[in-house]
Parts: sequence; structure tokens; C-alpha cells
Amino acid sequence: MLWVITVVVVLALSIMLYRAAKRKPKYDSKVVKLSDVRARAGKAASQPCSFCKKKAAKLTFYASEQGQVVGVCGDCRSQAEKRSMLPL
Ligand SMILES: [Zn+2]
Repeated sequence: MLWVITVVVVLALSIMLYRAAKRKPKYDSKVVKLSDVRARAGKAASQPCSFCKKKAAKLTFYASEQGQVVGVCGDCRSQAEKRSMLPL
């Protein structure tokens, strides 16, 4: 009778291990999708300009005299360069 219990326990354990192994791909889905990252990067790119506050698709970043990082749009880049800000 003991061998029957042993077989059942071994079977139960192997099924549990099999299910645990099958579940693994779900953990892989936690990996950030590249498309999501790109979508977020796209949002970050449409930040408002530090000077004119207009949302720009592309900002150029400069370090101000106060050591702050400012993002400026194409129109305000000349202003930032006049202020001798350091491009980052
Ligand atoms: Zn601007």
C-alpha cells in the first residue's frame, strides 16, 4: 500500500513542478515591452519648452547659469545659446 502513496505523491509533485515550469513564461511577460518604452519615450519627447512653454517634439537640453537643466525647442535654442548655456 505504501508504494501507491509514494507513486501518488511523486505524481502530484511532478504535476506541481510541471505547472510551475509552465507558469514561467508569465513571469517573462513582466519584462517591459520595447513598444511600451518607445511610447513612453515619445511622451517624454513632447515636453514643454522651458522658455516658451510650447510643447515641442524635440527639445535640446542646456545647463543654465543656476545649474538647472532646461529643455528648449528649436525656436528658443538661439536664446539659450545667447545666454551661453552649456548644451548637454
Ligand atoms: Zn521654446
